[in-house]
Order: sequence, then C-alpha cells, then structure tokens
Amino acid sequence: MMTFKSTALSNDQLHRFVFDNTPIRGNTVRLQDTYNTALQHVDYPPLLKNALGELMAAAALLVATLKLENGALILQIQGQGPLNLLVVECSASLEMRATAKWQGEINNQSFTELIGNGHFVITLDPKDGGQTYQGIVPIEGDSISEILQNYMERSEQIETRIWLACDQQSAAGMLLQKLPDLPEQDADAWARTGFLAETITDEELLTLPAETLLTRLFHEEDVRLFDPRNICFRCSCSRKNVSNMLKMLGMTEVDSIIEERGEIEVNCDFCNAAYVFDKVDAEELFAADITPPVSKTKH
Ligand SMILES: [Zn+2]
Repeated sequence: MMTFKSTALSNDQLHRFVFDNTPIRGNTVRLQDTYNTALQHVDYPPLLKNALGELMAAAALLVATLKLENGALILQIQGQGPLNLLVVECSASLEMRATAKWQGEINNQSFTELIGNGHFVITLDPKDGGQTYQGIVPIEGDSISEILQNYMERSEQIETRIWLACDQQSAAGMLLQKLPDLPEQDADAWARTGFLAETITDEELLTLPAETLLTRLFHEEDVRLFDPRNICFRCSCSRKNVSNMLKMLGMTEVDSIIEERGEIEVNCDFCNAAYVFDKVDAEELFAADITPPVSKTKH
C-alpha cells in the first residue's frame, strides 16, 4: 500500500483556485509548523506574533500570484513607532522565514500607532545575480491586509482582495484577484465574488479545509481547486554570508573585536543560528584577499 505521508500530514499548504467562466483567480494558505518554527527563537509580544503570522500568510499568497521561478519575495514593514521592522521572506519554492524588531512596550496599540510613519517595502530577489526589483511606498492602512491591498491597487494595478487571520497558533489567508480580461457581460462578477468572500470569519479561515471553505463561500459559482503545494520553514543564512559580511566590516575592525572579546559571534535574526569566528578563522578570512601585487614588467 502506498502512502503519501508528507502531503497528508502537512498542515502548511497553499491552494490555488480559479472560477470557471469568470476571470477571477485566488488562493488560500494555512501555516502552522512554518509559523511556529519561524517564531520559536524570540519571545514576541502577542500583537507582533499576530502581525508576523499575517505577513507570512500574505507573502505565501503573493508568491503564488507571481511568475517567480527562483529567488524570493521579501515583504518588509518599516516603522518609526515601537515597531521598527517586520520582515518575511518566502522563496519561489515556498520556504519561509520571518523576524521582527521592536523597542519599548507593545500592548494594545493600533497598527498605525505601532508603526508611526512607516514604509512598506516589497523586494523580488532573483538570487541568481539578476536584477532585483524593489518597491517602497508609504504605509496606507491600519492592517496588513489593507496595506497590501492598497499597494497592489496602486503599484501593480491589479484589483486584489486579501483576508488574513492569525490566532498565535497558526496563520491563514485568502486572496482574490481580478484578471484583466473580465468581460462586460459579467461585470458584476468581481463585486459579487468579493461580497461572498466578505462573509468569511477568522475562525473559518484558520480551521476549515480549503475545499470546505470555498464551497461554503462560493457554492453557486464554479470553483476549480488545484493540487496544494507544501510550505515549510527554512532559513537561507550561511557561514559564507556571515564571512562576506565580516569582510565588508574590514580586517582592522574584525581584529579589534577579536582582540577585545577573543572571538566574534554573529547570530542569525531569523533562525538564531550562531556563527563563531576566532583569531584563526579571521586570519583565513582575510588571507584569501591578500593577492600578490600585479607584475609591472614592461614588454
Ligand atoms: Zn538563519
């Protein structure tokens, strides 16, 4: 007997769907292990746990709408209030990581109060040396879904609706997108679909299987659900990247820190991995850069 263990057991999946006869597409996402693993290294205030969960769900939903073959989508909310930074990275193959930086008390502020004057930064990093795309816009909206919807409408000119939910155990979301070739005779399809989707509750989003959710919302429409894709946590940090960072810092600076503390320890903000460099490591790091002077012999 064959079993499909990894697919059957994963709680972390992305489902793509289309409406037959109507140029509207969408997807749903649920994150549990990925979410918990990403947040386990830091004791985040509850509000930030929610915000990170919603931004993670949003990143997976957006990656599914992009024609991204390699590389990663990085969503950042940069604030000047108690919340300084929320970062979520989701690769084309749906590997995710997330982190946040804050200062002071975070208890029950509104999202606007948390951020102050902030920016939403969206980056498409092809990771293969190709052109990186980056869009930076002022934050408009008092929730992550509002911020993203406003961004999509203004910058991408694609009408998009996003619903997000997080209960600090798991995160979930749904996205609907209006495709450009919506014919005149079905002009109300977008409004109708949005109206139906609007009835969704956070609990339904967080608990119902995708098929049940879509049947409940759109039972009079012809919805076609594609096979799900699994999502997992993965951090892309490496000793090589940390080495490059130390090289940029320069030999003098690195030597002086080692002189003072005996070693340099760099911790990854995303996964808390520790990279330690002692005197010997540092010498190796910079030895490679000392190349013999170029010969000035004249021919
Ligand atoms: Zn890491």
